[in-house]
Amino acid sequence: MAVHPRRWKLWRERRLVIAYALAVDIVAGALAAGAIAAIPVHSGDLFRFGLLLAGALAHREAVHRTESLRERAADNGPLTRLTSLWIFVAALLVPLPLVFAVTAVVYLHSWYRGSSGGLRCTLFSGAAMVLASTATVAVLQLLQPTGYPFIPRGPLGLAVLISAGTVYWLVNYVLMIGAVRMSDPLRPARQVLVNPSEQLVVAASLGLAVAFAVMLAEQPWLSPVLMTTVFALHRALLLPHFQQAARTDSKTGLLTAGFWREEADRELERARRLLDPLGVLMLDLDHFKSFNDRMGHLVGDQVLRAVADELRSQTRPYDLVGRFGGEEFVILLPGVGTAQVEHIADRIRERISQLRVLVDGPHNRPATVDGISVSIGAAVRPDDGDDIDRLLLAADGALMAAKAAGRDRVQLATR
Ligand code: GH3
Ligand code: MG
Ligand code: MG
Repeated sequence: MAVHPRRWKLWRERRLVIAYALAVDIVAGALAAGAIAAIPVHSGDLFRFGLLLAGALAHREAVHRTESLRERAADNGPLTRLTSLWIFVAALLVPLPLVFAVTAVVYLHSWYRGSSGGLRCTLFSGAAMVLASTATVAVLQLLQPTGYPFIPRGPLGLAVLISAGTVYWLVNYVLMIGAVRMSDPLRPARQVLVNPSEQLVVAASLGLAVAFAVMLAEQPWLSPVLMTTVFALHRALLLPHFQQAARTDSKTGLLTAGFWREEADRELERARRLLDPLGVLMLDLDHFKSFNDRMGHLVGDQVLRAVADELRSQTRPYDLVGRFGGEEFVILLPGVGTAQVEHIADRIRERISQLRVLVDGPHNRPATVDGISVSIGAAVRPDDGDDIDRLLLAADGALMAAKAAGRDRVQLATR
C-alpha cells in the first residue's frame, strides 16, 4: 500500500498539538474549578477587582488597534501581550477565583475584538495564564502567607516579588514555546525563542504590575497616572516590528535589498580587515514572466517564497540572503573564495531545479510545480572587486552571461 510519509507525519503532529492544548485546557479548567470551590472571596476584594477590571478593559480597548498591527507584524510568532500585566496585578490584589475572572474577561474581550488566533488560540492562552497565575499565587503564599491585597514589604518583599515574577514568566514562556514548537516544528528556533527585547518588555510589564498593585491597594485614586505609562509602553512596542518590517521582505521573508546592502558593507569591511575572501551570488529565475502568464501571479508568489526558503536552507546562518528585485536574489558568502564559490552556486542551482512546490492550482485544487530553473552569476573578493558595487556589477555581468549561454547554469565573473 502506498503511504504518504509526509502526510502521516503531519497527522501525528496535529494529534500531538491537539493533545497538548487539550491537556493544558483541562488542567487549567480543573484548577479553576477547584480554586473557585475552595477559596473564599470577600466583599472587600470585589472593590479592588472592579477597579482592576476597569483598568484592564480600558487598556485593552484603547490599544486593540496597535495590537492587531503587532499581531500582523509578528506573523503568527509568539507575541508579548501586555494582558499579562493585569493578570499579575490580579494575582497580587485579589484571591485566585477573581484572578481567573479577570483572565476570562480579558481573553473573552480579546477574542471578541478578533484576536488573530481565533477561539482555540485564545482559549489556550487563557488556560496558560490560569496555570501561570496559580503557580504565582502558590509561590507568594508559600514564601509569605498573608491575606489580600498582597503587598510584600521590605527587602524580603522584593525577593518574594522577584521569585513570583520569575515563576509567572517561566510558566507562560514554557507553555507558549511548547505550543509554537508543536504547531510549527519547522519554524526557525530564533523565531520561537522570542528576541531579548520582547523579554525585556515582559520584565517591564511585571514591574509596572507591581507598581499598579501597590497603587490600587493603597492609593486607588492615583492609579490613572500609571495608565499613561501603560499606553506609552504599548506604543513603544511597535518600534521593533517596524524595524523588522524595514529589514525583511514581506513576500519572501528574506532581507530587503537596502538592509542586505548595509549588512553586506559591514561584512566586506570585516573581510578586508581580516584579508578573508568573500563570495557574492546573483540569481534570477528563468522565464519567470511566462511562468506567471501561464500560472498567475499568486502562484508565482508561492514559487518565489519556496525558492527563498530553499536559498535559506542551502546557506549558513551567517550568509546574507536578500531579495534584490522581483525574482532576483543576492547571496553574500563570507569566507568563500574562488575555489568554493562555483561549487556552492551549483549546488543551489541544482536544489532549486529539484524543487517541487505545492501551490494553489486552478479551481482551488492543490497542484505541484516543478522544473523551476535559475541562472546564477558569481563574483569573489578580492579577485573581482573590493567593494560591494564592483562585486555586484561583476556578478550581474556573469548572470547575464549565464542567461545568454542558455540559462539554468552558473557563470563566474570574468576578470
Ligand atoms: P529570464 O530571466 O529567464 O530572462 O526571463 P524572465 O521572464 O524571468 O525575465 P525577467 O527576469 O526580466 O522577468 C521578471 C519577471 O518576474 C517579470 C514579472 O512577471 C516577474 N515578477 C517580478 N516580481 C514578481 C513578484 O513579486 N511576483 C511574481 N509572481 N512575479 C514577479
Ligand atoms: Mg528572470
Ligand atoms: Mg529578473
